[in-house]
Amino acid sequence: MYHVLLYYQFVAIDDPETFADQHRQLCNDLGLKGRILVAPEGLNGTVSGTVGACSAYREAVTKDPRFATMVFKVDEVTGHAFQKMFVRVKKELVTFRADLPSNPLDTTGHRLRPAEWKEKIESGDVIIIDGRTDYEFDIGHFRGAIRPDCESFREFPEWIRANFGDKKDKTILTYCTGGIRCEKLTAFMIHDGFTNVYQLDGGIVSYGKDKETQGALWDGLCYVFDERVTVPINHTDDRRIIGTCHHCGQPTERYVNCRNYCCHSQHLSCEPCESLFNSACSMECMVAPERPVYA
Ligand SMILES: [Zn+2]
Ligand SMILES: [Zn+2]
Repeated sequence: MYHVLLYYQFVAIDDPETFADQHRQLCNDLGLKGRILVAPEGLNGTVSGTVGACSAYREAVTKDPRFATMVFKVDEVTGHAFQKMFVRVKKELVTFRADLPSNPLDTTGHRLRPAEWKEKIESGDVIIIDGRTDYEFDIGHFRGAIRPDCESFREFPEWIRANFGDKKDKTILTYCTGGIRCEKLTAFMIHDGFTNVYQLDGGIVSYGKDKETQGALWDGLCYVFDERVTVPINHTDDRRIIGTCHHCGQPTERYVNCRNYCCHSQHLSCEPCESLFNSACSMECMVAPERPVYA
C-alpha cells in the first residue's frame, strides 16, 4: 500500500537553495515521487511513496523544529500518484503577486474546523469564495460558493477587488484544496480592509476526511494535482454531480485527455461523446494528425 501526503508550513527558510538540495536527497533516498516547493516563506509539498517511506519522511521532516507541528494530510492509494520527484525553489509558495503583504505569519483569516465551517455556511448571510481556479470549481465546490473568474491564482487580487470591494464588512468564507492558498488570500484580504474573513482549516481535503461532517454540503468531486485527478469529499447521501460534458452538457465526472498531442487538454467528457469524438476535445483536435514518429 502507498500513501499520498499533502502538507505545507509557512516558516522562514533562510537558505532555500541548500534546503532544497538536502530535501531532494532525502526524497530520492526514500523513493518518493511528487512535487515540493521551497521558498523563503516556507515549504509546500505533495508526495507519494510506500507507507514506510512516507512515515520515514514525516519523521525526518518533523525532527526539524521549523516543521515540528506541520500537518500532513494522508490518503491511501495503490501505487505512486506521481511520475517523478521535483523539488523546486520559488519566490513564493503560491504565486500570488499581490501589491499588499500576504504573509500568513503576520496575519491570516480566522481558521474554522470542518464542523464550525459547516455551521457557518448553514447560519446563512455569508459569502463563500472558492479560492481555487475556474476549472477546479467546475468539477466540484461547496454549495452556494462563488465561482472565481480566474484561470490562475495571481488573478485573485484583481478579481477580489472588482467583485467584493463593496462588501468589506460582510462575513466571508474562503476555501481551497489543502488550505495553503487561503492562507495567502485571506492575509491579502485583511490587508485590503476586509474585516470578517474566515478560512477552512486544512482545506477541502481535510473536510472530506472529517467524521462529523462527512463532507456534507460539498457537491461534485475535488480536483487534485496528481494522477488521481479527483477525489471524493461528500460521503453523505446528499451529494450532487456538478461536472458537465464539454461536448453535450450532460452531467459527468469523467476526465479525458485530448488525443491531439499538441493539445492534450484535460476535459470532462461523457462516455458516448468520448467515443464519438475519438477522445478529442474539439472537431479540430479530432482531425489533427497523429504524433509523428521520428527515426
Ligand atoms: Zn457528452
Ligand atoms: Zn484538444
